[in-house]
Amino acid sequence: MAATQTQTLKNGTFPHGVHPPEHKEFSEDIPIEVVPTPSKVMLPLLQHVGAPSVPVVKAKDVVALGDMISKGGGFVSAPLHAPIAGKVLKTAVSTLPNARHVQVIPIKADGEQLEGQALFDDVLGGEWSYEGIDQRDPQEITDTIAACGIVGLGGAAFPTHVKYTRNDEKPVDTVLINGCECEPFLTPDYRVMLEAPRAVVAGALLVARAAGAETIIIGVENNKPRAVEVLKQAAAGTGVQIAVLKTKYPQGSEKQLITAVLKRETPLGGLPLDVGVAVSNVGTAAAIARAVLRGKPLTHRVVSVTGAGIREPKNLLAPIGISYQELVDFCGGLNASAARIVSGGPMMGFAFANLDAPITKGTSGVTVLTAKDVRKAEETACIRCGRCVDACPMGLVPTKIALASRAQDVDLTQRYHIMGCFECGCCTYICPASIPLVQLIRTGKAQVIASQRK
Ligand code: SF4
Ligand code: SF4
Repeated sequence: MAATQTQTLKNGTFPHGVHPPEHKEFSEDIPIEVVPTPSKVMLPLLQHVGAPSVPVVKAKDVVALGDMISKGGGFVSAPLHAPIAGKVLKTAVSTLPNARHVQVIPIKADGEQLEGQALFDDVLGGEWSYEGIDQRDPQEITDTIAACGIVGLGGAAFPTHVKYTRNDEKPVDTVLINGCECEPFLTPDYRVMLEAPRAVVAGALLVARAAGAETIIIGVENNKPRAVEVLKQAAAGTGVQIAVLKTKYPQGSEKQLITAVLKRETPLGGLPLDVGVAVSNVGTAAAIARAVLRGKPLTHRVVSVTGAGIREPKNLLAPIGISYQELVDFCGGLNASAARIVSGGPMMGFAFANLDAPITKGTSGVTVLTAKDVRKAEETACIRCGRCVDACPMGLVPTKIALASRAQDVDLTQRYHIMGCFECGCCTYICPASIPLVQLIRTGKAQVIASQRK
């Protein structure tokens, strides 16, 4: 357990990066609202990093809220649980915004549902006591996190229990909880910090206990002073520290967060574990608290529906598996200026058109951009200005990787460390020649993966 003094660390940052317009104004001040139970949800069997989950139900089975739908398909995997009461339908296939075709288990709503304030209280509200956390069995904490299907809710969707399972060869001395939310437009983490700060702190204490970490730090960018204040109050007397970081994109990436807070460099291709750190997002921390303290699996998450192209931007507590269409409809629909719908935010998200697709555990928002937002000059030749190199937070040379990718030179892309790119989009954002660098790099990565399968 951490020492009891709560400190605030200030002004951390990382090298490189960019400053895109934040555009949080659409939804940052809008409290989380509970979406009414949809008529149907569709649960992709693969919505996390690792092996697909394996169904434990069949068509026509009746399920209650929280019942297990599929079990983990291995150590790096996660089970799924029913986010509504209803009847299981025949397994189908859906295309997610990232263009992946996945098997889904549909559930048609039937029977009594948990709705409104009662659902909010069940997921995020009510009391969150820290008592006894420092006496809990570490293995029981990680087992519960695994059984409840918790994965990283910041977008990566990596199964959380894997990070916190004790490993004597690579001990974790510090748990970092990520409240930076640097992606433009999106505000679900901000609202969770404001509306459920004690759930975030409880989750942080639980995972530190599980991992045996002595130090716990919550990192928040300095454009969120209200979140810093409520977290400081919630953390009082626990020893959890708050690091206030400079606002810069991509401060919310875990390697950049580790550099900014701890001044430790994660090796290229390495993991936070290699430098004694485990990182979880604030929404994940709250989900961990719900799982371990209340025995409830991951069935819902907070999603922003935002941007100038949506009629009524909102932050919604939504069941996993609800369709994007139902979220957009609940926010009054698209307005006449809507030009592009993005799952996530404009820097790392995926533009898509199939609004019938379901949201997953990793969906943090839907951003509806206007023609003004997406207007971009036509692509021209590289002028060798080096701005993409200056912007890359991983120290890569994006222009060379993109060129090699265009030439389908798999060996050369690897020599330029293409797999070290985490697709933050800084290079594309800054390029004056409008070269779609990150898109080319994504294609290059697919080429590398395909070549390794041969
Ligand atoms: S090369 Fe990758 S990591 Fe570097 S700026 Fe571009 S997208 Fe980000
Ligand atoms: S920013 Fe664009 S134009 Fe400048 S070097 Fe990189 S790829 Fe070339």
